[in-house]
Amino acid sequence: MKSIKIYICAALMVLGVSSCDSFLTTPPLDQISEDQWWGDKNQTEMMVKGAYQYVYGPNEVVLRDCISDNATHREAKYKEIGNGTYTTQSAAVKDEWKYASIAKLNYILEGIEKARNLISEEEYLRFNAEVRFIRAFVYYNMVFFFGDVPLITKTLSVAEARETSRQPRQEVLDFVLKELEEGVLPNIDKVSVTESGRVSKQVVNAFLSRVYLYEKNYEKVLYYTNEVIKSGKYELHPNYEELFRPQADASNKEVIFEHQYSSPLVVHELNRNLSPASSIYAGWSHVLGLQELVDDYECVNGHPVSECESLGCEYFQKRKDAEAETHRGEYDFRDPRLAATIMWPYWEWKVGGNVLSRYGVDDPDSKDYVKKETHMTGFLVTKWVDLQGEYADRTRGQKNMTILRYGDVLLMRAEALIELSQDLGEAVALINQIRQRAGMPDIAMASQSVLREKLRHERRIETAFEGLRYFDIIRWHIADKVKSGKVYGARLKAISDAMDNKFVEERFWNDKMYLFPIPQEAIDNNPNLVQNKDW
Ligand SMILES: [Zn+2]
Repeated sequence: MKSIKIYICAALMVLGVSSCDSFLTTPPLDQISEDQWWGDKNQTEMMVKGAYQYVYGPNEVVLRDCISDNATHREAKYKEIGNGTYTTQSAAVKDEWKYASIAKLNYILEGIEKARNLISEEEYLRFNAEVRFIRAFVYYNMVFFFGDVPLITKTLSVAEARETSRQPRQEVLDFVLKELEEGVLPNIDKVSVTESGRVSKQVVNAFLSRVYLYEKNYEKVLYYTNEVIKSGKYELHPNYEELFRPQADASNKEVIFEHQYSSPLVVHELNRNLSPASSIYAGWSHVLGLQELVDDYECVNGHPVSECESLGCEYFQKRKDAEAETHRGEYDFRDPRLAATIMWPYWEWKVGGNVLSRYGVDDPDSKDYVKKETHMTGFLVTKWVDLQGEYADRTRGQKNMTILRYGDVLLMRAEALIELSQDLGEAVALINQIRQRAGMPDIAMASQSVLREKLRHERRIETAFEGLRYFDIIRWHIADKVKSGKVYGARLKAISDAMDNKFVEERFWNDKMYLFPIPQEAIDNNPNLVQNKDW
C-alpha cells in the first residue's frame, strides 16, 4: 500500500522546509503568487496532503489521557487540566481552540476550487472530500470541548475574524454532520482510495459512528458501525500488544484511520518521552499512570483483582508467592493488556525473551529511582513504544498513531446496543470478541445496567492511552465522580517500609468543567466571544 507520508515529505522538500513538524500549509507567498501556486496540480495536491497535519498526533492520542482519570503528566500544561486547577489562560485550553487550523483548511478548500480546471473530476471530488472531512473533524472536537463556537467556513480578513461570535452548539454540530453525510460521503464514494492513512469511505463511516455515539444518537451508531463491519475490510489484529508496536504497522488490518510516520522526515518523540531514564532511550518519563487505572485491570480469571481472595481464586496465593525484592507479584496473572500498556515497578523491558532493562522506580541504584524524581507515580506507558529500537530512535519514533480502529468500532456498536437495550446478546458477543483477542474470559449475559458497566470497563482497558478516556468520562457525565479527590501511584518501598501507595495529588472538579473555558486570548482579540458559564 502506498502511503501518504511519502507525499508529505515530497511536499516538504519542494517547499524547502527541513522539518515535518513545522511545515507550511500556506505557500510562501513572498516567493510565489497565489495564482501561480494554485495553477499547479502537484502543488495543489501537496496542500491537500498537508491538511492531514490537523488530525491527531501523539499529543491527542497519548497525552490526552493525562487530562482524564487514567494518568497525570510531568508538565504543568496537562497536569493542571487533570487536577482541575486550569484557567482561561491555560496552554492546553488554548491548544484546542483551532481557528488557525480552520483558517488554513478554508484556504485550501478555496484553492482547490481555483485549481479545478487543472485536476480531474475524480481528483477534485477526492481533494474536496478529504479537506472537508478534516475540517469537520476539527470542528467536532471544538464543539465537544467548548460547546458553542464560531462557525467559519471561508477565508476571513483579520477584521472580519474579530467580529465573529459563537454559534449555538447544535448549529455547528448540524454543519459537521451535514458536511460528513451530504458532502464528504457521496464524494469519497465516487473515488477509489487505496492508500492507507487517507480519508476513505470507511474512515468517514467510523468517524460518524464516533460523533453519533458521543451525541447519544444510538440508532445512527448502529447504522454506521454496520457499514464499517459489512465492508469486510477490517478485523481485529490477533495480538493486542503488537498492534501498538511499529513492527505491526505494515500488516495490521485493524486500523481504519491513522496519522502515519516514517523516519527520518516524519517522526515523533514518544520513544523518549514515554520511556524511563534506565531504558535504551534514556527516556523522560512524561506520562504517569495512576493506581486507580491499574486496579481496573482484572485478574486473568476475569473478575476484579480485589475479589481474588474472597472468591478463593488460585492467583491470590500465587501473587503472594511471586513477591520478591525486585518483583512485584501484584501485577502477575492480570489482564494481559496491563503489561501491554503500563510499566510498573521492576517491569521488564524484554526483546525476544531477553531482559534489556527494568523500570527501577523503586530501586535506589536505578536512574529511575522515585526519590530522585519526585513527580513519578511508579507507572509509565509502554503502549506505542518501540521496544526494539536503538538509542537514536528516541527522537525518531515512527509508530503510526491510531485515530480510528476496528476494535473501537465493535465497542461503539456494543455500547449503542446496550443503551438502546436492544439485541443485548449481540452486545455481549461484541465485547467478548474484544476480550478473546486480549486473552480474557467471556462476560456473561446480564441486565442492561450490568452490561453498561461491563462495557465502560472494557472500553477503558482496551483503549487506554488512545486519547478516548477524557471524551468518555465527559459524555458519560461521570467526571464529577472520577476526577475529584486524592489520587495515588504505585505501592513503593521508597515511600515507606509498609509499601504505601505514593500520594500524587488532590484533584478538584466543578461542573463548569464539563466544558472548557474559551481561551482568554481569543476573548481579548474578539469581545463578541462570551465566556462559558462560571468560568
Ligand atoms: Zn483472581
